[in-house]
Amino acid sequence: MSRLAISALGMPRIEYAGAPLAVDRRKAVALLTFLAVEGRAHGRDALATLLWPGYDQSTARGNLRRTLSTLHTALGEEWLAIDRDTVALKTADGLSVDVREFERLLAECGAHGHSADQVCPRCAEPLRQAIARYRDDFLTGFTLPDAPEFDDWQRQQTERLRQLLSGALARLARGLVEQGDTYAALAHVRRRVALDPLDEDAQRQLMQPWRGPGIVARRCANTRRASNCYAAKCKPRPRPRRPRCPRRSAKISSPRRATPHLSRSMLPPFSPIPKSRLCTTTHPRHCRRRGPRRPAATSGRSPSCAPG
Ligand SMILES: [Zn+2]
Repeated sequence: MSRLAISALGMPRIEYAGAPLAVDRRKAVALLTFLAVEGRAHGRDALATLLWPGYDQSTARGNLRRTLSTLHTALGEEWLAIDRDTVALKTADGLSVDVREFERLLAECGAHGHSADQVCPRCAEPLRQAIARYRDDFLTGFTLPDAPEFDDWQRQQTERLRQLLSGALARLARGLVEQGDTYAALAHVRRRVALDPLDEDAQRQLMQPWRGPGIVARRCANTRRASNCYAAKCKPRPRPRRPRCPRRSAKISSPRRATPHLSRSMLPPFSPIPKSRLCTTTHPRHCRRRGPRRPAATSGRSPSCAPG
């Protein structure tokens, strides 16, 4: 049986018999990855609804049949178990799925006889291998825009695997601190914080005082390197004085003109207006409210002007 390797942590990558699998259908890659990660048989109707939700059942089943034919041509009969109602990926020695490997390595620590959040010296190696398997998030850069149910499944798997990675990083960092390798532990904690900056537990682990021979040695080396760089290149030099602008210098040095001052004696004398010249302007409509308007011809005066 030829080897089949399915890598879903990161960009999806499928290798069959040591060479990349040549399938030009994205739905074929999605179907093969789904069967590989789930690890069990699924009904044809469920797979058709998952990958072709916008079609009626007969059309979706026809699309599924053509995709299975594409995979059957590429893989032969040795890996797919297809019958009238269900489809599954066979489990054999030649099958390698990185998601399953990642989960199996993390499960190894559970066989050491301690709780899941504790770490023992034997945990370090499987945790290292599991973290190394995690190239990137689940199916990075791969989407099926016309299959929202597959999109939801992909999002759930991404979140679940990220949480598993975060726990593995935290436990490996604690184990490395107990072994005295503080500098390597700090690197894992920083990766954990970068995975989810809003994770309070990861931030708390990063904020703890990090002391150790590795940290001090690296810090001294960095300080020495920074000091040499500062002495050689970064020492501040005196800034050259800018020549003063001759026009501005002449303007500043010239005496200012005195502002003319107006004294009270220079203003004209105040003369009150005689009361007989005062005139009150009233709108004709306002005059109608107060009383009957006299005709202008009989009064001989303007209705809007009356002596005060
Ligand atoms: Zn252990």
